[in-house]
Amino acid sequence: MKDIFLRMDELESHMGTLHSNFGELKLKIKELLEENQRLRIENEQLRKVLKRGAEPAELQHTADEPAAVKGDKLPGAMGVGEGYDNLARLYHEGFHICNVYYGHLRMEGDCLFCLSFLSK
Ligand SMILES: [Zn+2]
Repeated sequence: MKDIFLRMDELESHMGTLHSNFGELKLKIKELLEENQRLRIENEQLRKVLKRGAEPAELQHTADEPAAVKGDKLPGAMGVGEGYDNLARLYHEGFHICNVYYGHLRMEGDCLFCLSFLSK
């Protein structure tokens, strides 16, 4: 009988270790997801910068084409809507877009700061 209690004690301490390992793992995954998101945003921004840098050369190539092809979209006007869409998408993927927790994973459902930001 004593043996059983000894083994239960052992098991209990194993479970404690397991539980804290699991907690650490969960935290690590959260950090990785956040880092991944940051890198994705950075990558998108770098792509935009690259694209902007490539534009003058592109314009030279397309100089002979009709003006209507190039002039159908205003870059400035498109940027604002695009930025909003990106933020809305980020939020729906489970990340904060509010200035309080920006870029962090939303662990507890909806965030009021984010929602008030989205409804602006
Ligand atoms: Zn938020």
